[in-house]
Amino acid sequence: MQHIIDRVANIKSKLEPYGATLVAVSKFRSLPEIQALVTAGQQDLGENRVQEMAEKQEHFAQYPLRWHQIGTLQRNKVKYIAPFVHLVQAVDNWELLAELQKQAAKHNRIIPFLFQLHIAKEETKFGFAFNELLPLLSSQGLAAYPHLELKGLMGMATNTADAVVVRKEFAGLKKHYDELASAGMPMQILSMGMSQDWQLALEEGSTMVRIGSALFLE
Ligand SMILES: *Cc1c(COP(=O)(O)O)cnc(C)c1O
Repeated sequence: MQHIIDRVANIKSKLEPYGATLVAVSKFRSLPEIQALVTAGQQDLGENRVQEMAEKQEHFAQYPLRWHQIGTLQRNKVKYIAPFVHLVQAVDNWELLAELQKQAAKHNRIIPFLFQLHIAKEETKFGFAFNELLPLLSSQGLAAYPHLELKGLMGMATNTADAVVVRKEFAGLKKHYDELASAGMPMQILSMGMSQDWQLALEEGSTMVRIGSALFLE
């Protein structure tokens, strides 16, 4: 497991000049692998399956870990993570937002979240189109969601080796992030970049990268 500890340190040192945060994507990873992350001092962990996150959270409950929901979240599963989730990164529809509000209220919490924007060419990737978020800029804004706190945006670039395409998609997401910020929306986190493209993402303004395989694969 030493390679995991070394990679966390290595990637963190490269994020430092950008002031960016590492979310270690621990989905599908075993408990010993996650223990290696914990040993490396890694506190932000990303999962895309609710049940897996809830089990791991319980197992590592004695550590001060921050669990990020990074994948598609089904409305009927929100209740399982509402008590502890640190950041819901992939809000891609209004019904989900309404359910998050309901469950956050029930647990007397404010749950931070990101809107996921669709920036890739692939239809299989989820997220809002930027125009769908524009009604938020009206006077009502997020007033209907007092138990939620918008922190920023998340996006996934097309899975391609063509750096020009990927860079352009990240730059587009950053532009929308800046547009929302100048319209007065609270933009603090721009979550973009995975194992294949995190360096490009940093150059295009990412403040948070979500890295899985590059930490674990031998
Ligand atoms: C799996 C996943 C990641 C991490 O992917 P790697 O290529 O393993 O780094 C990042 N973000 C999301 C939304 C994911 O589902």
